[in-house]
Amino acid sequence: MVRIDNIVILTGAGVSAESGVPTFRGPDGLWEGHRVEDVATPEAFARNPTLVQRFYDARRAALAAVNPNPAHLALARLDAGWRGNLLLVTQNVDDLHERGGSRRLLHMHGELKRALCKACGAAPEWAGDLSGDPACPRCGAAGRLRPDIVWFGEMPYHMAAIEAAIDACDLFVSIGTSGAVYPAAGFVGWARAAGAKTLEINLDPSAGTALFDKARHGPAGALVPQWVDELLG
Ligand code: NAD
Ligand code: ZN
Repeated sequence: MVRIDNIVILTGAGVSAESGVPTFRGPDGLWEGHRVEDVATPEAFARNPTLVQRFYDARRAALAAVNPNPAHLALARLDAGWRGNLLLVTQNVDDLHERGGSRRLLHMHGELKRALCKACGAAPEWAGDLSGDPACPRCGAAGRLRPDIVWFGEMPYHMAAIEAAIDACDLFVSIGTSGAVYPAAGFVGWARAAGAKTLEINLDPSAGTALFDKARHGPAGALVPQWVDELLG
């Protein structure tokens, strides 16, 4: 068996589904009653800032009612117990990985619990609402804060660090992601090119399932703890 030192894990909305955070596209094609293009693009924000602020204010407030599930907790256990390099890259904007205890974590699509100031570039932690035009705590500008979320058409965060970690990884694991949103959907290809083993864990086969060496299909809350137990032996 190939020795595994360096692990990169990519998570998506599916890892938080069992906590009660809705995934992106439900059976009706809507996200919490909205078309994704109406709330998750810079154009949508320019057109109707109030609607977009209220949408994300509601998502941020909803975090208070949810908790990490066994998948988040197992990934934190792996982080604490794994002696090699490990990087957890999440597309999720919720804070359930950090509340579960993960430390080696990057949010590539931003965080609900941060604001971003369009005047000075600060990204302060933010717990309350952004509608009502609060002032930036760093520069004082009013009405210039937006959610620190990477919208469609914007550049994901931490790409250089993610690319370097994938280049050096021996094992790449994708958990609870549909494989429909780029560049994250392309990570498995980078990992294969780097010679890594690849594993998909998802409720059902994702768009990219054929690109993985192995796949396990079922709920993350059951499959991830099992997989972590196997790895930590
Ligand atoms: P997605 O909604 O497109 O796909 C979710 C995937 O998870 C699907 O393949 C589905 O089969 C799978 N899934 C559902 N329940 C599962 C479970 N219990 N166990 C395992 N898998 C399960 O989400 P995505 O691929 O992350 O991409 C969409 C984008 O949505 C991301 O950019 C992200 O920023 C954003 N988003 C984030 C959250 C969040 O922060 N929790 C929620 C919704 C959307
Ligand atoms: Zn500012």
